[in-house]
Amino acid sequence: MNALLEVDDLVVEYGRGRRTFRALHGVSLDIAPGECLGLVGESGSGKSTLGKAILGLAPVTRGSIRFDGREISTLGRGARRQLASDIQVVFQDPYGSLNPAMTIGDTLSEPLLTSGLSAADAKSRVREMLDRVRLPSTAIDRYPSEFSGGQRQRVAIARALVRRPRLIVCDEPVSALDLTTQAAILDLFIELQRDTDVAYLFVSHDLGVVRRVCHRVAVMYRGEIVEVGEGEQVTKSPRHPYSERLRLASPVANPRAQRTRRAEWLALREVADATLR
Ligand code: ADP
Ligand code: MG
Repeated sequence: MNALLEVDDLVVEYGRGRRTFRALHGVSLDIAPGECLGLVGESGSGKSTLGKAILGLAPVTRGSIRFDGREISTLGRGARRQLASDIQVVFQDPYGSLNPAMTIGDTLSEPLLTSGLSAADAKSRVREMLDRVRLPSTAIDRYPSEFSGGQRQRVAIARALVRRPRLIVCDEPVSALDLTTQAAILDLFIELQRDTDVAYLFVSHDLGVVRRVCHRVAVMYRGEIVEVGEGEQVTKSPRHPYSERLRLASPVANPRAQRTRRAEWLALREVADATLR
């Protein structure tokens, strides 16, 4: 397999001296072109840190990140800016991630104009993108505040896609949405991947969500990847005790089944902690 992204033995540390905190302890993974790799793990396990390192926003202490065979963890600002046409991001918060003072049309055309497209070409690309994410073309002249959370997330997705990237880091992109909207946005991610062959690193704390969109899933625990495998296998019959604990932590509707699940989760907590330092 020719990987699009290869992360090898990546260490990220925040702070310095005695205050140094190691957030990633030698993480390795790869993503193929057009693949969706899920990244699950509890809050604070280092998922966003890995996403940020790929985007050039976290301090890499050791290890490598190769995109299309090229080392990108050491790029200077200019080269990093050029890479933005290949690697994009969608964040969790559709309210905080859009500039409230810019129309949707300006938000979407800005990166195109910066990269040298003519105003006319940018405009037609923006229309095409709005259509792809199922927003009406009238959205062009409107502001983020005029849209719901789900619609704003569609705008954020359109903005990530507008330069035709090959990889999008999706950091909990549906976690702030209600369940019905979540389902619609997940379907959109799947459809866009099918149509454009873009790859996703899809971060979520929700196993149901990653099962639905991801081909493979990696499980992160305290800055380490403890298991990687097929989505179905990792989310339904995980091999590692910590992955199993994550599975048991996601609630089920039946109260009796939930009580059993909770008891199993508590019992496994000890086992998982003993296995991992
Ligand atoms: P996740 O996305 O899985 O919730 P994060 O990657 O955000 O986890 O955080 C992993 C760990 O790194 C946490 O303990 C967090 O407190 C710490 N951390 C994240 N960002 C910083 C930062 N800028 N400075 C110091 N510590 C940080
Ligand atoms: Mg996070």
